[in-house]
Amino acid sequence: MSDPARSLLGFIQAAPSPHHAVQHAASRLLGAGFSPLDEAESWQLRPGARHFVCRGGTSLAAFVVGQEPAQHSGFRLIGAHTDSPNLRLRPRPEQDQSGYRQLGVEVYGGVLWSTWLDRDLSIAGRVVLDAGGGSRLVDFGRPLLRIPNVAIHLNRTVNVEGLILNPQRHLTPILGLSSKTAPSVRELLAAELGRTGEAAKPERILSWDLSLYDCQPGVLSGPNQEFVQAARLDNLASCHAAIEALRDAPAEHPATRAAVLFDHEEVGSVSGQGADSSFLPQLLQRICLTTPDAAPDSFARACVRSFLISADMAHAVHPNYPEKHESQHMPLLGGGPVLKTNVNQSYATDAESAARFSELCRAAETPLQHFVSRADQACGSTIGPITAAQLGIRTVDVGSPLLSMHSIREMASAADVDAFLRVCRQFFA
Ligand SMILES: [Zn+2]
Repeated sequence: MSDPARSLLGFIQAAPSPHHAVQHAASRLLGAGFSPLDEAESWQLRPGARHFVCRGGTSLAAFVVGQEPAQHSGFRLIGAHTDSPNLRLRPRPEQDQSGYRQLGVEVYGGVLWSTWLDRDLSIAGRVVLDAGGGSRLVDFGRPLLRIPNVAIHLNRTVNVEGLILNPQRHLTPILGLSSKTAPSVRELLAAELGRTGEAAKPERILSWDLSLYDCQPGVLSGPNQEFVQAARLDNLASCHAAIEALRDAPAEHPATRAAVLFDHEEVGSVSGQGADSSFLPQLLQRICLTTPDAAPDSFARACVRSFLISADMAHAVHPNYPEKHESQHMPLLGGGPVLKTNVNQSYATDAESAARFSELCRAAETPLQHFVSRADQACGSTIGPITAAQLGIRTVDVGSPLLSMHSIREMASAADVDAFLRVCRQFFA
């Protein structure tokens, strides 16, 4: 039994889309005395104050203002991402084929396609209403869609030749039977808004950002409940650790500490609110400028004194595919946080940031593992190098070990959830 792991499962359940991840993180922050700021307003920040600010509905930064000006003590930052690879509804999704009503989807990020077959899929995200009605979050929370596998009798070689999928033809979910007047997406959305107390006619719904997700809740599994099996562990596990650690961050500390959750990591981070946007640079500049003795060089000086933990999940070694890992760098589930190194800067870790992180692990009494890609395997990347390039802040790329990364249902370790949270708390304390 692990309380941090159960807390993480609650976080994931409440966050079927990046919009919901931000909304849920905000609700946890509000419960810990953080107050919202609006990027469009001017800010007054006092030492010890606890705030959060959102951009685009899918990125969030929360911070506790340090007792000293940032140019003296720098920022302590943990960055993570709110998005996960998934399938998203197109603007005109309804299509009828062979007697079925189907919904057209776009593939978002590096989805492990086959894992989306034969799952009970629901829909969550944001809709925008006309006449200044603003946007609403919607989560159907029940099975609505399915992408059925083709029977093995009709695909006899699938087990030995592999499942070949064309994302345009083979990932289109079934909603209903077209002959039985299956509803349009607008009709479904209007009914769902009505069910939650908001009268909205279908024609009032102008647009949406809607993701599909698996309805099956996450669980702890294994003889000692040592495993966490859930959707979106990459990277809600890191978001959860950053937010929970910041909630516990003491007010009496010289440095400003922040948890920054970006959208769009899975598609390269270039967007209005991704890690390659002005979101974090502007936030840090504003914090610097609101201190009483701010000077034109405060921000540049603060960045030099700052440190960023770029938190994203790491590849655990798979017992059925041990040859996929470099033999001296095989992170194990339950073995503690993973330090990621890539000399070609797919990860921003260098000797100094690695040393600082390993000392944090020591202080938090957690073991530390290492990941380096095989020389004959391309390396993934994270927000670490992007934020490091934007700000010049010393950065370390780390994360908890994970199996089935980018599957609709991933696998982590409950002990690692606890260990990573302890390291984040140590960093902010
Ligand atoms: Zn990730």
